[in-house]
Amino acid sequence: MTTPENGTRELAGKRALVTGGSRGIGAAIVRQLLDAGAEVLTTARSATDTVPEGASFVAADVRSKAGAEALAAAARETLGGVDILVHNAGGARPHQGASAIPDEEWQDALDLNYLASVRLDSLLAPEMRERRSGAIVHISSAAVTTPVGPFLHYTAAKAALENYSRGLALELAPFGIRVNTVSPGRTATPGGEATREQWASMGGTPDQSDIPAVPLGRDGLPGDIADTVSFLVSERASWLTASTLVVDGGEFPRG
Ligand code: NDP
Repeated sequence: MTTPENGTRELAGKRALVTGGSRGIGAAIVRQLLDAGAEVLTTARSATDTVPEGASFVAADVRSKAGAEALAAAARETLGGVDILVHNAGGARPHQGASAIPDEEWQDALDLNYLASVRLDSLLAPEMRERRSGAIVHISSAAVTTPVGPFLHYTAAKAALENYSRGLALELAPFGIRVNTVSPGRTATPGGEATREQWASMGGTPDQSDIPAVPLGRDGLPGDIADTVSFLVSERASWLTASTLVVDGGEFPRG
């Protein structure tokens, strides 16, 4: 699905910033927002030939305050402002268990998977407040509810992101800004596959008994996640805020 069934370009006139759009889920989100008529700026640490055609690109590292400030400035310069903000950049390396995760990797996981969103939101949400409109989506992980040792730094950071996202949604709702979280399950992307291979090579068992089978019978595709994001940032989701949509084929049901 790239546009709603009636084929309208429902995001025409909207300006979108998507982090981590050079491959995987982020590139699929960029592609769908472009197809729906939005003007899109995306970022990654380095440009690739998989940045979707039609998007503007600026190289930035979202893990630092300086990186967030540079990105916000580039968004103002390139787009003139941001109506749609999708925090997709994320990931982490697995370790043998919780106590084997080095201190700097905890910090890195928090910076990339949690604080990057906090910093960028705090730079761009005030401008949305002034315009009294906007849509923000945070990309978390379905695995938040079943944390495992090798990824505790990652899932703890994503859990913080989900909690923060709900609180921000309540703060910004009176100003017409909607804030939601999308939590993907196992999705076929370069980063996802590399991480699972790393885990398997460490003796982890990513495809065996400690990971439940996907009830819908397949891994996710980047477009599955992008479909949900493009719905959430559209007017079709105008009564949706402070929600977490788990898109995982039923692998990690939440009560
Ligand atoms: P990929 O690793 O395939 O892509 C990640 C993107 O983020 C790339 O564009 C990458 O570019 C960019 N990025 C990474 N680090 C930084 C940084 N410090 N600053 C700026 N950009 C950065 O990841 P996926 O598409 O698999 O994942 C996307 C999101 O979905 C992540 O938040 C991930 O945690 C989440 N997710 C993915 C799952 C999966 O199975 N694939 C499952 C659950 C959640 P570059 O490296 O050049 O900077």
